[in-house]
Amino acid sequence: MKNLLLSVAALVLLVACGQPAEQAQESPKIQFYAMDCGHTTFQDVGMFADDGSMNGQPRELIVPCYLIRHPGGDLIWDTGLPEAIADLPGGLTPANFPAHFEVPVKLTAQLAQLNMTPADVEFLSFSHMHSDHTGNGNLFAASTWIVDTDERTRMFDAEHRSDPQDFNNYNLLENARTQLIEGDDDHDVFGDGTVTIIQAPGHTPGHAVLLVRLPNAGPVLLTGDMYHLSESRERRLVPTFNTDRAQTVASQAEVERIASETHARVVRQHVMEDFTSLPAFPAALN
Ligand SMILES: [Zn+2]
Repeated sequence: MKNLLLSVAALVLLVACGQPAEQAQESPKIQFYAMDCGHTTFQDVGMFADDGSMNGQPRELIVPCYLIRHPGGDLIWDTGLPEAIADLPGGLTPANFPAHFEVPVKLTAQLAQLNMTPADVEFLSFSHMHSDHTGNGNLFAASTWIVDTDERTRMFDAEHRSDPQDFNNYNLLENARTQLIEGDDDHDVFGDGTVTIIQAPGHTPGHAVLLVRLPNAGPVLLTGDMYHLSESRERRLVPTFNTDRAQTVASQAEVERIASETHARVVRQHVMEDFTSLPAFPAALN
């Protein structure tokens, strides 16, 4: 019996190896959802351009969350502003940040529209650690967290522990099941090349972007906080508060190289027109 199983296994292996590459890799069904996880209103977006060119200009930024449903599991990419803000009449003007926050609809309510809860989401990853991306991190403490080593270290350092307002939105992840991304390597989430986390540091030490290769819509590149404003990409603006300017400029060049090589649709995550050009939730790209 054991020998029979072994020879069946060998046969399967032989057949699999004998197939041409295209046939062996039939594209998996993937659904890509863009969710509204908050809005931030600034009277002055000068902080997003260290050349001073945006000083004094007001702007509303969208704060999105993305859900990628793959046969190998679900991935949430960024978790938005804390959904508790939805319960505050008129939103929140935080003490430590010069903007006004609103959350029109809770992330959990949007997942419920897909008959899902956070516990159904197998994988969690953030473009980076800032509070408009990690605001609902603790909802996914039962997921497997995929994170760059440098970013994780920064999230749990003494400075961030001493800021409970933001830290307590993701503190439970310290004990979550974790897949660490070491060095500058890309991370292939499902092992089939369809969903790849690509390191693009500079905004923070472990800032990353996400390349999703959709079977019908084609490649989509979610660029995290590489470009905050509609002017940022064309003019290669660098925020004043990035951790490393030279690294940011290098990452912008690398992200643009990947975008032109893959012909990806580039999504500037905080730019309203990029968000509204995606299917309105619960519709999906696929
Ligand atoms: Zn952000």
